[in-house]
Amino acid sequence: MIDREGKTVRVLFVAAEADPLIKVGGLGDVAGTLPAELRKLDAAALDGWKLDVRLVIPYHAAIRAKKLDIRPLFDFPVERGEETITASAYVTDVNGMPVYLIDGAPFPKEGPVYSLNTVEDGEKFIFFSLAALDLAKKLDWAPDIWHANDWHTAISIYALAHRRKKDPFFAKTRTVLSLHNLPFMGGGTDATIKAYKIPFSRDPRLPAWGRRQPLPLGLLKADRVIAVSPSYAKEILTPEFGCSLEDFLATRQDAIMGILNGLDQQVWDPQNDPQIASPFSASDMSGNSENKRALLREFELPEKMDTPLLILISRMDQQKGVDIAIEGLRLLTGTPWQAILLGTGDPVLEKACQRLEKDFPDRVRAAIRFDAKLSHRMYAGGDMLLMPSRYEPCGLAQMIAMRYGCIPVARAVGGLKDTIVDDPKLTSGTGFLFEKATPRAFANALQRALKTYTDHAPEWQGMQKRGVQQDFSWGRYAVQYGNVYLDLMEVKR
Ligand code: ADP
Repeated sequence: MIDREGKTVRVLFVAAEADPLIKVGGLGDVAGTLPAELRKLDAAALDGWKLDVRLVIPYHAAIRAKKLDIRPLFDFPVERGEETITASAYVTDVNGMPVYLIDGAPFPKEGPVYSLNTVEDGEKFIFFSLAALDLAKKLDWAPDIWHANDWHTAISIYALAHRRKKDPFFAKTRTVLSLHNLPFMGGGTDATIKAYKIPFSRDPRLPAWGRRQPLPLGLLKADRVIAVSPSYAKEILTPEFGCSLEDFLATRQDAIMGILNGLDQQVWDPQNDPQIASPFSASDMSGNSENKRALLREFELPEKMDTPLLILISRMDQQKGVDIAIEGLRLLTGTPWQAILLGTGDPVLEKACQRLEKDFPDRVRAAIRFDAKLSHRMYAGGDMLLMPSRYEPCGLAQMIAMRYGCIPVARAVGGLKDTIVDDPKLTSGTGFLFEKATPRAFANALQRALKTYTDHAPEWQGMQKRGVQQDFSWGRYAVQYGNVYLDLMEVKR
């Protein structure tokens, strides 16, 4: 199975979404970038091995609408108990990487990638997960590594673990499950799992409810579980972040590790960003103030260049602590600052942002929408990014902010803790962190940041510079993934 002459590892990366074909959230960023980065790795970085990574995603209705060059391959049957459902395979390539797409009746002809209907999504993604296994076989391309992501494709790992016992095709395939977001486990899909005749687990290590949900089943059988930051890999073993799986996850501790996500530094490059008024670099940050002025004008805020401009760019979700940010800002109205909040999601949080604008019309603006171009102008023009997440598996916004000289004020959790350095002496830090998910703790950290901004300008500029100079690119993380694959295959190193 392994091309030992050519030393090639076959990896099938299985995900619900992948940029640029389709992107809804962070998973789309990772699945759109990591496979290509793995393919690019020089064999010298991996003891002479090359990675032949391919990607498979569902042929979502929204991809169809884009009219890309996607070619039909073949149809094949997927067994659903006594019935069969026809799956249609397609292929395209993205920068030289084969990308397979799977369509079939469970995917509606129109509609979003993820619906609010758990049964419908269960039908979509369980069909897709199993069809992906059949596709590999139909292609006669036995992967050395099967790399699934989150609940949507986790069941493929559980099903593969059963298949490899009796099907020599998968006998040597090792499995990796990336964990981008533990709380979404695929609940409400038991009837579908049963319909596909996938036996529920009886493993006593899993809580009873977890024996019939895709993510816990995948976590049970994956040869390696990779959380998207080292801190998140540890946090999920605790009651605060473990979502009631912490005791089970502790039994799998040896299989769990964390690798940070990288950032696409071509898209997020302050020296070369067509979206911003005045590009800048670490050696000459003067463009930065022009960006701030432009942003204040755009939002018709007073052009107070010495007043710190705070930005929040986030899904409006409990996870992100938007409520903590708003309450925290209300605690600090005696101190000068201005703020622009950008995001959509939970209507309660959207309204709370709008109410803050209404209460403080001379210093707050709320933009309730998704606006990628505006986000570039905000990162470039803002002085501080507010990110008081309740949990944060990795987080990209803080990395983008640092690259743009915008200092993060963030909760010390998950990937935030792993990417931001808070140095009270102000000599080596890149941001401000706080521990408790409370408005008071957030306000204290913000107060420290505001004071540094006004009273310690040279130190502030030092922090900005260190942030802009940081390398968040995928390279070294891709090497870490590559080494995980080689370890799992137990190849001679
Ligand atoms: P998550 O994936 O949990 O939403 P991340 O910090 O990993 O959080 O990534 C969020 C990404 O989405 C960042 O690139 C951020 O700039 C972007 N983003 C979030 N909300 C908006 C919005 N309303 N408009 C534009 N970009 C947004």
